[in-house]
Amino acid sequence: MTAPRKPKLAVWKFSSCDGCQLSLLDCEDELLEVAGAVEIAYFLEATRAEVPGPYDLSLVEGSITTPHDVERIKEVRRQSKALVTIGACATAGGIQALRNFADVKEFTSIVYARPDFISTLATSTPIAAHVPVDFELRGCPIDKRQLIEVLSAFLARRKPVTPAHSVCVECKLKGNVCVMVAHGTPCLGPVTHAGCGALCPTYDRGCYGCFGPMETPNAPALSRELATLGLDEGALKRIYSTFNVNADAFREEAKRHGN
Ligand code: SF4
Ligand code: SF4
Repeated sequence: MTAPRKPKLAVWKFSSCDGCQLSLLDCEDELLEVAGAVEIAYFLEATRAEVPGPYDLSLVEGSITTPHDVERIKEVRRQSKALVTIGACATAGGIQALRNFADVKEFTSIVYARPDFISTLATSTPIAAHVPVDFELRGCPIDKRQLIEVLSAFLARRKPVTPAHSVCVECKLKGNVCVMVAHGTPCLGPVTHAGCGALCPTYDRGCYGCFGPMETPNAPALSRELATLGLDEGALKRIYSTFNVNADAFREEAKRHGN
């Protein structure tokens, strides 16, 4: 009797820093089990082999920033039974979405000696703005435990279990003292999606929102609290204008504090 075919996994990169793909390679203890459960068919960061599609699961890192990306993601979608986006770039447009609020031609003229060689779009947009996405995993970078949960859920044909609450709840679960209440440290934890295990507040730092907005954030209420800690309009705008600047709740709150 022949063994059942292993699901084919593909990992794709668009505009990104590779940090989220590295989270998969960082699963040292689990990687061999993952490799035993799936056929890693396309993962240029880790393997030389390129097994042609179709693929059972595609993990997509990065945002859409070039005309070529727009066409390539459609082809990736065509070849993928399930498509999961990983990281702030793929789910919100990433830090590179700062271009969405500026003149990209001015940026390229400053950065490149020959900007006329650069073919780029005026915006950086998430994958879901271009093709249907089956699940979005947040973070900059993603959390490897959540990535393993997504892979396990896919293999078991169930929905991934990832919390929808805020980083604040993770702090409470860990027994952390609130950095904002106890020390007056500005923190985006109340509006930020859980998943990191409250990494920064655990080390007495404020959260800067790398997992993006939680499902029902009240950013205006948090901004009022941050203002009492001394953040002026410019600082409030900047605090929301990082990796997830193009995620709806953060973008709208940044806009409320200036253009
Ligand atoms: S989400 Fe962050 S870590 Fe992941 S690829 Fe983008 S910049 Fe890198
Ligand atoms: S505490 Fe905030 S900034 Fe720090 S890792 Fe978690 S989500 Fe990211």
